[in-house]
Amino acid sequence: MLNTYIYADLTPEKMADLLDRNTDPNHAIQDTVLSIIEDVKQHGDAALKSYAKQFDKVELEKLYLDSDDIDNLAMTISRDQMRALEIAFQNIHKFHQTQLKRERTVETMPGVKCWREVRPIEKVGLYIPGGSAVLPSTLLMLGVPARIAGCKEIVVCSPPQNNGKINGFVAYCLKLLKIDKIYLVGGAQAVAAMAFGTQSIPKVNKIFGPGNQFVTKAKGIIQGMTDVSIDMPAGPSEVLVIADETANPAYVAADLLAQAEHGIDSQAVLVTTSSQLADQVNQELKAQLDVLPRKELAAKAIENSYTVITENIQEAMDFSNRYAPEHLIIESDDWKPLINKVQNAGSVFLGHLTPESAGDYASGTNHTLPTSGYARSYSGVSVDSFVKKITFQHITEQGLEQIGSTVEILAELEGLQAHKNAVSIRKKKQ
Ligand code: NAD
Repeated sequence: MLNTYIYADLTPEKMADLLDRNTDPNHAIQDTVLSIIEDVKQHGDAALKSYAKQFDKVELEKLYLDSDDIDNLAMTISRDQMRALEIAFQNIHKFHQTQLKRERTVETMPGVKCWREVRPIEKVGLYIPGGSAVLPSTLLMLGVPARIAGCKEIVVCSPPQNNGKINGFVAYCLKLLKIDKIYLVGGAQAVAAMAFGTQSIPKVNKIFGPGNQFVTKAKGIIQGMTDVSIDMPAGPSEVLVIADETANPAYVAADLLAQAEHGIDSQAVLVTTSSQLADQVNQELKAQLDVLPRKELAAKAIENSYTVITENIQEAMDFSNRYAPEHLIIESDDWKPLINKVQNAGSVFLGHLTPESAGDYASGTNHTLPTSGYARSYSGVSVDSFVKKITFQHITEQGLEQIGSTVEILAELEGLQAHKNAVSIRKKKQ
């Protein structure tokens, strides 16, 4: 089922090909997204309503639901479902709360004190995917750190369902987060609306959230063309499983499929030291895939996925670090010594009993993570993503004496006389 490659036989070209997740080689998605962005910029709400009709197959009179609508929808879910969302909320809150730390003040020279203070980003926009599957879990993953950071205005956009509403689970999460409005807008148009503002939707300072290729491309484009920033490129999901002969093939197959069912552009990669395990995983994939409700989507993603067989675990780690997966699962009895060898990954799941789905929903870590190799340089969403860290400093008379001549010399050697004067004028006054 999975195409299989032998690590030692990979040519540099084949290696580059396996590592590449560029899903828009002809710029078709980019062209579509650019025209959507321009349309929203020009026509605001009218464009959003027309895209809801075109892509979400729904005619919207108003582009948002308010607190009464949200209350009514939230009541439609069962007590058990509410409880599960509450536990997820609490665990995510517990884990993220520790991320807000006060740093100490540093006296770099006597009388020269420097420190950083944390301030929330005032207006943030959260994108909650809702095309092929509605993801209330994403609302918790973005809303909880936004609340902990203290963001003043939280704008939430998610594609309308075909009844012109959102589902009860998203509504219940809005209540847990004390957010009383949601905008019924999906795709690139939601990103554009939050970047430029429309008659209904406020412009924000930073846009967060995963999404399909249209959403991810739109985030990349608006970051370059506006003063609005983004969390990271968080596109189609991917998992890389490192497994040795101690792994359970049924668990490995289940983990690969859990990623594959996200969408046809998701990728699931198995890197193993055991060709016997690779064969067993293929058999398991077939058996488990057959009974999945989303088996058509998952089967297409599996076609786009592969296995790499390595000589040893070091080669497996090397491949994984080059791939830089959004999710890395290490299924081996001997996972502990491998922690230090992880260089590039969004989020890591260790041992046989740690499925990636636990992190997707409820263990506490964030599931909004860099894809397409961006884990080489980006971290996943955290409270840090929702704050700015502003530096402060204070210099006393003693400090000015200590640091003054250094600044004067450096300003002079850069030819910036006014910089030098700003120090000299103060020194003379002492
Ligand atoms: P989505 O909400 O991202 O996209 C749905 C919207 O896409 C639609 O409302 C529509 O406006 C737009 N769209 C659909 N077809 C279009 C077309 N032909 N042209 C222009 N716009 C179009 O929902 P989705 O499609 O289900 O995708 C969710 C994605 O999020 C998946 O790829 C999943 O893997 C990914 N994801 C990533 C992470 C992460 O952290 N990286 C986490 C969760 C989910």
